[in-house]
Amino acid sequence: MTRRWLFADQLGPHFRFGREGVVLVESTAALGRRRYHRQKLHLLLSALRHRAAELGDSAVLLRTRTYAEALDELGETVRVYEPTSRPAADLVQRLLDDGRVEAVDPTPGYSLPRGDFAQWAGGRRRLRMEDFYRFQRQRLDLLVDDGRPVGGRWSFDEDNREPPPKGRDRLDVPAPYRPREDDIDAQVRDDLDRWEREGVVTTVGRDGPRLFAATRREALAALERFVTERLPAFGPHEDAMLRGDWAMAHSLLSAPMNLGLLDPVEVAHRAVRAYEEGEAPLASVEGFVRQVVGWREYVWHLYWHFRPTYRRRNALAAHEPLPPWFDDLDADAVDAACLHDVLAGVRDRGWVHHIPRLMVLGNWAAQRGYDPDELTEWFQTRFVDGYDWVMPPNVVGMSQHADGGAMATKPYVSGGAYLDRMSDYCGGCRYDPKLRVGEDACPFTAGYWAYLDRNAERLQGNPRIARPLQQRHRLKDLEELLAQERSRGDAAP
Ligand code: SF4
Repeated sequence: MTRRWLFADQLGPHFRFGREGVVLVESTAALGRRRYHRQKLHLLLSALRHRAAELGDSAVLLRTRTYAEALDELGETVRVYEPTSRPAADLVQRLLDDGRVEAVDPTPGYSLPRGDFAQWAGGRRRLRMEDFYRFQRQRLDLLVDDGRPVGGRWSFDEDNREPPPKGRDRLDVPAPYRPREDDIDAQVRDDLDRWEREGVVTTVGRDGPRLFAATRREALAALERFVTERLPAFGPHEDAMLRGDWAMAHSLLSAPMNLGLLDPVEVAHRAVRAYEEGEAPLASVEGFVRQVVGWREYVWHLYWHFRPTYRRRNALAAHEPLPPWFDDLDADAVDAACLHDVLAGVRDRGWVHHIPRLMVLGNWAAQRGYDPDELTEWFQTRFVDGYDWVMPPNVVGMSQHADGGAMATKPYVSGGAYLDRMSDYCGGCRYDPKLRVGEDACPFTAGYWAYLDRNAERLQGNPRIARPLQQRHRLKDLEELLAQERSRGDAAP
């Protein structure tokens, strides 16, 4: 028997270990390597320390500068599960080579082993998320009856794209589960304050009460609250945004899932049970299952499937550096109501749901030509659920179309009209979503046309964007608009 070294995102009971117990490592070099959101570091440390406390004598928690120093201090060989990033996998390989790691086991953190994905992907010309998702549904027996989808359709996306309810500030759903901080959190806060003073770590974003589950018990409570009280309302408005409702009916489970506190298969089955017991409608449950065993796992596998250089792909030659106001989450510098609110959400919570990520932050970055690699780093470090494996496919592929369409068939850019339809931001904004030139022109509307014009040649031949590319020629004020957007520079809108 050999002790198991568990990383800080392998904290649930499905990351098994034997009688020898586990070693957990708090590496200040790893924590200080990047400029992380303060609440992200808090969540990570809180989860790690809570796991160590729960395991008692079965765990050794080592606090060292580097991982290698921790293993030296331990003085034993260890077994590990496949880590979740290439840098960590390289480190494990080096430790394997010099004998400090005895074996690497397949990770139980995802439902499909990497070898099985390779088999599924082999020979396919396109790795479509929809095909992968159906494969997963059938394989895991989720909302499937005799090989066919329950309800006669694999996707209820069409039912799940409603705008926010008119005249309401918030969705009519109970609040999400909120953990209660304890002495471990207080100690984490003290340590982070001290490390910031000493320059051990440099953080961004505001500190605040911990909002996300950091223990198995909390994660299960968050799952139950979501499934029993919020899941019914999740589907219809999952793509909508309300200024006064940051959580809407989203599960907030990505953070505990990415810490390894929940098994994605148990999460998906729990949601399906709610449907089977008549507690949640099919469209909501399907939309959620799609996120958990479809999209999330698809992204995990693509991270490994694509080459390590994928992250640096830049098919649209976007080379603008992130401006300081964006990089520093300085929401107060921004007048545009949508971008202001979303950036403030990242600053204050380290989390906004997938539509503000894609259609406000990602859309803005694409329109302004921010460097996709820098942007990936930004998403990875500013979000509590951002990890090395999560962001490259999501940002480089899905959001920025920087992989030339390897992942998504069209760029996710839109003007103010889309944001106006799907949110309540525009009514309270100093800009007008219908205007593309002039003082009150919406920077998203103008930015959309400027984006199309700048990338016209590179996007030519893509049938999904052919129409708007043509339509731009009909704009009488295109030259004026382009000059206006050039003069905006990197100023906050
Ligand atoms: Fe955002 Fe434009 Fe709407 Fe203002 S008008 S909230 S900038 S989309």
